[in-house]
Amino acid sequence: MTASTGTWRIASADAAQAPVAVIGAGVMGAGIAQVAAQAGHPVRLMDLREGAAAAAIAQIGKALDGLVTKGRLERDARDAVLARLSPAASTADLAGAALVIEVIVEKLEPKQALLRELDALLPPDALIASNTSSISITALANGMANPRRLVGMHFFNPVPLMKLVEVVWGAETDASAAQAIEALSRRWGKTPVHAKSTPGFIVNRIARPYYAETLQLLQEQAGSPAQLDRALRGAGFRMGPCELMDLIGHDTNYLVTQSVFEANFGDKRYQPSLVQKALVDGGRLGRKAGKGFYEGTPESAAPVAVIDGDVGAVTLSGRGPLVELLGGWMGTRGLTFERDETADWQGVAVEGVQLHFTRGRCAAQLARERSKPGLAVIDWPLAPDRIEGLAIAFGPRVDNLQQTHAETLLRRLGWEPLVLRDVPGLAVARTIAMLINEGADAVWQGVCDEAGADTAMKLGVNYPAGPFEWLAQLGAPLVVDALEGLFEAYRSERYRISPLLRQRLWA
Ligand code: NAD
Repeated sequence: MTASTGTWRIASADAAQAPVAVIGAGVMGAGIAQVAAQAGHPVRLMDLREGAAAAAIAQIGKALDGLVTKGRLERDARDAVLARLSPAASTADLAGAALVIEVIVEKLEPKQALLRELDALLPPDALIASNTSSISITALANGMANPRRLVGMHFFNPVPLMKLVEVVWGAETDASAAQAIEALSRRWGKTPVHAKSTPGFIVNRIARPYYAETLQLLQEQAGSPAQLDRALRGAGFRMGPCELMDLIGHDTNYLVTQSVFEANFGDKRYQPSLVQKALVDGGRLGRKAGKGFYEGTPESAAPVAVIDGDVGAVTLSGRGPLVELLGGWMGTRGLTFERDETADWQGVAVEGVQLHFTRGRCAAQLARERSKPGLAVIDWPLAPDRIEGLAIAFGPRVDNLQQTHAETLLRRLGWEPLVLRDVPGLAVARTIAMLINEGADAVWQGVCDEAGADTAMKLGVNYPAGPFEWLAQLGAPLVVDALEGLFEAYRSERYRISPLLRQRLWA
């Protein structure tokens, strides 16, 4: 990152009226043009396809009409916004722009060619931004005479609704250029977060484990898509990973996964899944194909068969954030229990059956290590009041009566027992631990700061919390322990622990 130089016209006192140009009038370009015009800029929209820019402006008109109908926009304001939008026939018409945003097809060569052309055309005080979701800003700037004025301005779909903008710095990006784009994003009602140009930037990188861990669980026959979705919704996610992948489209998601994997030289962390490939190969692309993990829209899950009253002798064991969380919830549910803070394990026992919070180890392993056949592992109840179902796995020598005691306790807590195969880390724990790990590595490698990672994940993909908020809630010892369990179980570098987390532990 180079030192601050340059005065950009888009950052000047009358910046709100500075002309903006958007190249590429597709889904994203139209959204960006609308937001810029609503913020007061005269906007030229250009597209290679004949008539595409005019069609996009007509489409924006309809979107604005919708806002007028809902009472969110005055008719005069709607007319003024539309009057500020005009199609441009060629790049030569854009020479007066203070900012040009490139929103064309996601391919390196055409983007580079366009950016070089713009660089030659525009005066030195004009900024150039690219909305690329996966191409390196450093690579895009290669060949520009003035690469310092190129900044990634990564919007999310749908642009008028999604608040996040990743402000992406290529190796040559000037600090003042990135700051000007940050300030502009704020004026446009967005929340900007700075990111260094690395594969996936922030959101598309940190989100990988949300899909990857579920795909791994499916490959290991841990449970059904419906069970895993239910488990993750219980951690506060709006959609489970399988229903979300069905919505995004498996072709799109597979491409992003492959691109991040290849861009990281085949790092196992980002390895695509055979489960995903089979869906794509078989044309089960998700909702748009009418079939993916689910046929059509997933059915809503059956209500939990909640139980009230006595469930036998219950003891809350050990200490730590999860124990406190569970104890608080047992109180809310009016359950009588004893406490054993001195126990050398964390979880809850019912009629002598121990339910250990998973630490990335299987029930079978714990049962053997502790010589305790009647043992199960349970998932992390991060948001007790939102849980529809909690994942549980039993050791190999748990009998029917012991299983019934355990499942009855979960129903007494208002949670459907989601009985999974005895896999390490269950569903929520391994997903959250890996999201935290990925966020930690992003910060460790200088891609963003901690607050930026949290903001990006909450605003870019609607996560209930950011990785560092989860880390604060759970504490480094638990997270590192769970990751160590996973690493031991798989002996795969995929589960290697971020140095940042280890340092947090030692601190
Ligand atoms: P799109 O296919 O809907 O639109 C791209 C438009 O660019 C098309 O209208 C095409 O005719 C035009 N185009 C192609 N080459 C051109 C050129 N050389 N000059 C002028 N116009 C040209 O695509 P989109 O979904 O709007 O994506 C555009 C960019 O935004 C891509 O870089 C993509 O990665 C990025 N992006 C997309 C999303 C998303 O959810 N769709 C989200 C964030 C970022």
